[in-house]
Amino acid sequence: MAARIKPLVAGNWKMNGLTAARKEVVALAMKLDGKKKPACEILLCPPATLIAAAREVARGSKIAIGGQDCHAKASGAHTGDISAEMLKDAGATYVIVGHSERRADHNETDAIVKAKAEAAHRAGLTAIVCVGETEAERDAGKTLTIIKSQLKGSLPDAATAKMTVVAYEPVWAIGTGRTPTADDVAKVHGAIRKALETRFGSEGAKMRILYGGSVKPSNAVELMAVPNVNGALVGGASLRAGDFWGIISTYC
Ligand code: PEP
Repeated sequence: MAARIKPLVAGNWKMNGLTAARKEVVALAMKLDGKKKPACEILLCPPATLIAAAREVARGSKIAIGGQDCHAKASGAHTGDISAEMLKDAGATYVIVGHSERRADHNETDAIVKAKAEAAHRAGLTAIVCVGETEAERDAGKTLTIIKSQLKGSLPDAATAKMTVVAYEPVWAIGTGRTPTADDVAKVHGAIRKALETRFGSEGAKMRILYGGSVKPSNAVELMAVPNVNGALVGGASLRAGDFWGIISTYC
């Protein structure tokens, strides 16, 4: 029987948000306050400049705070970079690694992503490891091959269900308003589950697999009902508490 997995709904603010955006965290915390025992975990990943402030305003609420990237090293001469330890120190409990925008804009390979996930674990952060095919790869019928290869190369050998989350984000669906069909999502998530179970055994059976790519209040119900979808990674629709709540409340 499939393991009972508590879903995670995570918001990725990307390079958006000035100090004033703290009000969105406050508004979300107030909405969540009305829920005694939310049926899912809620995570916000603001830009690094807002992590400490977001942690402060979310204190006592059910919102966890995460980073969007980390360096593989704990410290050193890496101007402009931020270590997993620094994120943890600022109040983060999660970090996204291997987002397709990082893979594309910063030439991050699977090996780099794996090193970052290992750094997250070293610092005590849960790593959200992103995988996803481009439109050309999808059109060439290579989706499952690409995903399996990214999983193999990006996930640390010691990954556990508590400290590791996989996010399937088709690159062509991010920020475009387009989404795969529920059947396509089911096929990919089913293949990811199989790969996780084969490699990590019972830990792989419990590991959360999020879907990400143009999730909105209007499509969340259908996407979240797909087997092996254990939550969502949300970009644009997580920037406003009202929109994000529209997604969270379909789940929690
Ligand atoms: C993302 O950046 O992880 C994402 C899924 O973005 P969006 O929801 O805007 O497509």
